[in-house]
Amino acid sequence: MPELQYPDDARFTCVQCGACCRDLRIPLTAADYERHSAVTWLENLTHKSKKLFDKRRERQGEVCYFAHHPVHGCVFLQPDNLCLVHSAKGYDYKALACKLFPFKFIPSPDGIRVARKFHCPAVIANEGEPLNKQHKQLSKLFGDYCQSIQCEVPSAVMFYHDYAIPWPAFAQIEATLFTAIEIGDLPLYKRLLLCLRFIHACKIEALGQQGTFGIELDPQKILCELLQENMQKRRPALGERVVVTQFLGYLVAHYSRRSVWHSLYLPLRKLSLALGIGHVQLPGFTHPVALSQLHNCPPWQPTAECEALLHYYFRQKLLTRDYFGPACFKLPLVAGLNLLVLAYPLTVMLARLYALSRGHVTPLLQDVKDAMYLSDFACYASDIWSGTAGRLSAFMLSSPALLEKLVVWYGSGTSTGTPTGEKQYAGK
Ligand code: SF4
Repeated sequence: MPELQYPDDARFTCVQCGACCRDLRIPLTAADYERHSAVTWLENLTHKSKKLFDKRRERQGEVCYFAHHPVHGCVFLQPDNLCLVHSAKGYDYKALACKLFPFKFIPSPDGIRVARKFHCPAVIANEGEPLNKQHKQLSKLFGDYCQSIQCEVPSAVMFYHDYAIPWPAFAQIEATLFTAIEIGDLPLYKRLLLCLRFIHACKIEALGQQGTFGIELDPQKILCELLQENMQKRRPALGERVVVTQFLGYLVAHYSRRSVWHSLYLPLRKLSLALGIGHVQLPGFTHPVALSQLHNCPPWQPTAECEALLHYYFRQKLLTRDYFGPACFKLPLVAGLNLLVLAYPLTVMLARLYALSRGHVTPLLQDVKDAMYLSDFACYASDIWSGTAGRLSAFMLSSPALLEKLVVWYGSGTSTGTPTGEKQYAGK
């Protein structure tokens, strides 16, 4: 079996908050479906349900999920946040997706990277047992995973559209991205801009080379150019802001009760939120926030711990290669990095909304944690990218100029630069 690799500082122990079971739909493998169909579960459910499964037609064909209630979540979730399947039949009987969460396995030539989804409070807090001490359980989980899901190392890395690069070329790019994200005396948003500029410079070089990929770029030179520029905030145009605010419509729809009234009203609500109009109410909000308030906020000066948490997030994603390829809708590297960088303006926007809903203007650590919980979910939800608005956003994001504008708009004036978060954010 290939070797599992964990970031040194990664920890996880489930705190049984039940958030994943409430928020996420659980896709089933054929074996999961067969196993659960053979049991008469319906009469034992705490929240009565007429059905155990939902079938949905998706791009890859019909997918079967556990039935999901908009408020109570998964049919098997009990009021004490424990799973009925786990209590009645034990851990091994559970669906593969339930056992996997929050882990992802990402095949690479030098081993299997073990990534964690950040749509989990315990992952954001980096709490619990170090992953390298859970090697035995994770190896067994990986064995179960390989029985149902193909887990082969791609022969090359898709770089841009259908242009692939060999793994050694990717390793050089990756090393530069790490150098950029670790520059301690630069605000995080500038480090992300540096990553973005670097990857797009690589793209231009690659396209000019027609088939061979040599990295002649000098990251120091790109950095100097970046630092010499006057990073003036330019207000993104309405259409450009929609790229970020459309996520709010998606999140509001996801957390709304499903009813006839809502299905009529939601498209209008989503459109108004995407245009920056109306009020937002999300889980954990003390009261709804008008989006107009967001644009009147003074610049954000984040505390060192907020900046360290944000840095921790981006560093973990890079370390585990959890932002492109099979880990992320099969996106090529350039598109995956665009999406990763977009998580920054989205998280800052959500953190500001959380702060406003809780009666303060400057986001605190808890606001950033709550924002990260939602932004990681929204960025990596396939639903959002399959609709018309999602496809339009993806098209707009292929322009690095737009992303840069969004990152500067949400990030500038926000931080003074801190030492790298790796050491500062040990989890709380
Ligand atoms: S969200 Fe994370 S901590 Fe909460 S129940 Fe799920 S896995 Fe456990």
